[in-house]
Amino acid sequence: MTTHSDQELAVRCRGLTKRYGSGDERVDALRGVDLDVRSGELLMLVGPSGCGKTTLISIITTILDQDDGTCEVLGRDVGCMPESERTRFRGEAIGFVFQAFNLLPALTAVENVSVPLLLSGMAREAAEKRARSVLEEVGLAARADALPRKLSGGQQQRVAIGRALVHDPKLVVCDEPTSNLDAKTGHEMMDILRGVARAPGRALIVVTHDNRTFGYADRMARMEDGRVVEVSDGERQEVQP
Ligand code: ADP
Ligand code: MG
Repeated sequence: MTTHSDQELAVRCRGLTKRYGSGDERVDALRGVDLDVRSGELLMLVGPSGCGKTTLISIITTILDQDDGTCEVLGRDVGCMPESERTRFRGEAIGFVFQAFNLLPALTAVENVSVPLLLSGMAREAAEKRARSVLEEVGLAARADALPRKLSGGQQQRVAIGRALVHDPKLVVCDEPTSNLDAKTGHEMMDILRGVARAPGRALIVVTHDNRTFGYADRMARMEDGRVVEVSDGERQEVQP
């Protein structure tokens, strides 16, 4: 059974709007988005290509500014946050998993996972120790010293998940994490996200239009044409041991 211990909100968006370009080129990417994400839940954000999913999570993760509306993340109004503070907030509180993995090709798996810790000032030895334990959690301990090009797509995505979790963020955001993976690897990835990424009090937003993964959601938010048009309970089924 899913419990939301305190119904605390990790993310609260109201009336968010965002447009790109102007005149003939103008695109209204968000047209008044309301969305709540609870601490401790896995919220899946679904909808057709171009409906505004990446734009919405870019605002939530402070990479992009909204034009209008409010966006509170972990109790902070991110729209009003100065640039210097955003970088720090992002580095401490948020973990990302991208569709394209975005690993640094010259660094080994363990070095890639260490990067967020090194950026926050942790000593190399301590960072690599922590990174190795995270790689073990995602089932990649044996390949910790391999370069990304020596790893399969699924293994590279495990490294990317490890890197997103290594600093123990309160919010993890994954943009189409399974779309470059075959069906079997995609399911493995969702198992890892559900099992490892769901720490107490941590919220997970998974953007996807891969309906094979819908069964992993606590709740689903469906977007259409720049709005969240429906939020429903997920189809999550407990896995039999
Ligand atoms: P999704 O992630 O759901 O596919 P996006 O948020 O990427 O949707 O895009 C929403 C709309 O905004 C689309 O019409 C897209 O073409 C447009 N768009 C996204 N990014 C930009 C940009 N940097 N400049 C202009 N238009 C953009
Ligand atoms: Mg997108």
